Amino acid sequence: MYHANEDRYEKMRYAYCGNSGLKLPLVSLGLWHNFGDHSNLENMKKIIFTAFDNGITHFDLANNYGPAPGSAEKNFGIILKEDMGKYRDELLISTKAGYTMWDGPYGDFGSRKYLIASIDQSLKRMGLEYVDIFYHHRMDKNTPLEETCGALAQIVNSGKALYVGLSNYDGETLEQATKILGELHVPFIINQNRYSIFDRTVENNGLKDMSAKLNKGIISFSPLAQGLLTDRYLNGVPSDSRIATDGRFLKTDNLTEKKLNAIRELNETAKKREQSLAQMALAWVLKDGIVTSVLIGASKAEQVLDNIAAIKNTEFSDEELKKIDKIVKD
Ligand code: NDP
Repeated sequence: MYHANEDRYEKMRYAYCGNSGLKLPLVSLGLWHNFGDHSNLENMKKIIFTAFDNGITHFDLANNYGPAPGSAEKNFGIILKEDMGKYRDELLISTKAGYTMWDGPYGDFGSRKYLIASIDQSLKRMGLEYVDIFYHHRMDKNTPLEETCGALAQIVNSGKALYVGLSNYDGETLEQATKILGELHVPFIINQNRYSIFDRTVENNGLKDMSAKLNKGIISFSPLAQGLLTDRYLNGVPSDSRIATDGRFLKTDNLTEKKLNAIRELNETAKKREQSLAQMALAWVLKDGIVTSVLIGASKAEQVLDNIAAIKNTEFSDEELKKIDKIVKD
């Protein structure tokens, strides 16, 4: 029977999510990979327990995480039922809908029809009465924003989510949605977007600045570029790595010689800071205090431990920042 480490809250730092009253751990754990039906339940438990034992209170899911789609929520539901249920009030659980989940015109994008059906399915799979955060997973130019926001309002008003978030939005659409959600009195508090040393999209599409201006939180996904910003690929492609075992989203083609050289140089920079490359990559995302939490993935419990130590040093000198920018641009 699992009992959480008594000292867990001393091991993590927590930050308010935008101007809400909700605090997020600086490091959160996502279940996109390694929690589907191809993965081992005992390893999943090890990863989740290690995270929670070290103060990671936030676990992020989506309707379609697997494979098969839905299986990550189902497996997380098993862990909740068998081990973690007694800690429900100490857990921040999020899920999303917006990408393809089921066949036909009602299992994708941003309609009221899709979102309302999807949250019900997610709750059933996880065995929960409510999630803490429910996200619209991606922008949908073909559905009126009023409809998507109205569905999010209904989900909160019916008690199925406490807060809502938007994922993969840009700055302009975020501003429009904030106005609509504000008029509907929806507790919209957080944006979930990709952000890493390698991917600066949110700096260029207005998302980061607009979030800060509107006092919304940001949780950045794939802060390790799916494992590229770690020591994983420094000496080839290990047989247990994401590229070798999955290959759906991170492929051998992503590991060009140019990218490898950048990874090697970044690794040297990290060494000088007395951090692992993973720790430096996470610290970099957290450095200016605009991002509330880094949303990591892990295939092993040890990776969670390595990553959590990033919060010990999130300060960078101007010289280090310039050096990192130069490595990425070259
Ligand atoms: P990361 O960039 O953190 O990549 C995680 C992978 O990096 C791990 O699975 C592991 O790969 C490797 N890794 C992690 N830590 C270490 C370490 N210390 N040393 C060596 N290798 C390490 O994040 P993900 O891409 O997994 O995304 C994280 C979460 O973000 C998802 O689970 C999901 O919740 C969310 N997300 C949201 C999206 C959205 O559209 N809203 C889209 C994508 C993700 P390996 O398997 O090789 O060991």
